[in-house]
Amino acid sequence: MDLQNLLDDIVGDIQPFLGQGAAADYIPGLATVDTSQFGIAVATRGGEVYASGDATVPFSIQSISKVFTLALVLAGDDDSVWKRVFREPSGNPFNSLVQLEHEDGIPRNPFINAGALVVTDRLLSLTDGSAAEAVRSFMRDESGNPGIDSDAEVAASEARNSHRNASLAHFLASYGNLENPVDEVLDAYIAQCALAMSCTDLALAARFLATNGRRADGTAFLPASQTKRINAVMLTCGTYDAAGEFAYRVGLPGKSGVGGGVIAVVPNNCTICVWSPALDRSGNSVAGVAALDAFTTRSGWSIF
Ligand code: GLU
Repeated sequence: MDLQNLLDDIVGDIQPFLGQGAAADYIPGLATVDTSQFGIAVATRGGEVYASGDATVPFSIQSISKVFTLALVLAGDDDSVWKRVFREPSGNPFNSLVQLEHEDGIPRNPFINAGALVVTDRLLSLTDGSAAEAVRSFMRDESGNPGIDSDAEVAASEARNSHRNASLAHFLASYGNLENPVDEVLDAYIAQCALAMSCTDLALAARFLATNGRRADGTAFLPASQTKRINAVMLTCGTYDAAGEFAYRVGLPGKSGVGGGVIAVVPNNCTICVWSPALDRSGNSVAGVAALDAFTTRSGWSIF
């Protein structure tokens, strides 16, 4: 298959979707982005990259970072985090407080905000307080881009508007489900979400999910059983309340973020990252999901 041709075709085909939906505005730093942008990149398990559109433009990765904190925790800690967070779809908004009280402070999964705060908290403990730096350095190493960093403006903007995440963190602490002070957990969480990366960077950084846990330099990062599990949680919980629709349309494990990025994994084959900032009502990129739908339909690459 001519991957480059396929990606170029998809960039042409998704033009009618650009501008459908709206950029996230609950973090003001994200609201001003140009919604006519679209990028797509594929990184093969051997490390070749194919890209088209705005694939080298950095964007705010937001919740996509949650896949990487989970992977770093599982690499450092094996399975103990699963005592503190479940792995079921939540059926509730990603920042909901209600479910956490009903379920005694154990978040439904690591990709809703409450669960991600627990995972970041664990990473803080495992890294002596350097969770955000650990994620950043993993991203730099795997993508080969030493310029990757947190966008200070986006981080400050989220910090000023993080009452709901602060509530979730205090709530977790009240159930004894945080090991570190609330402020430190929130700072690390906001910094990981504010990482600015391109489609190319992210497709490369996620490649361990398509290589049974191997890093770019060939060393073992996670056992194959753990990458299988991360991919499974992405499939069931990775795209907000639309994971069923995403599985139906795309047929791959995926994780989206409110910056408009989505990563998807074809196990043993490649990773794909798409980005376009305008989101649907579930919080997923309209053009991004349409592009992944077109990619798997035309390539036949799906887990089903
Ligand atoms: N930093 C964002 C928040 O906590 C991430 C949301 C997302 O991308 O799902 O609200």
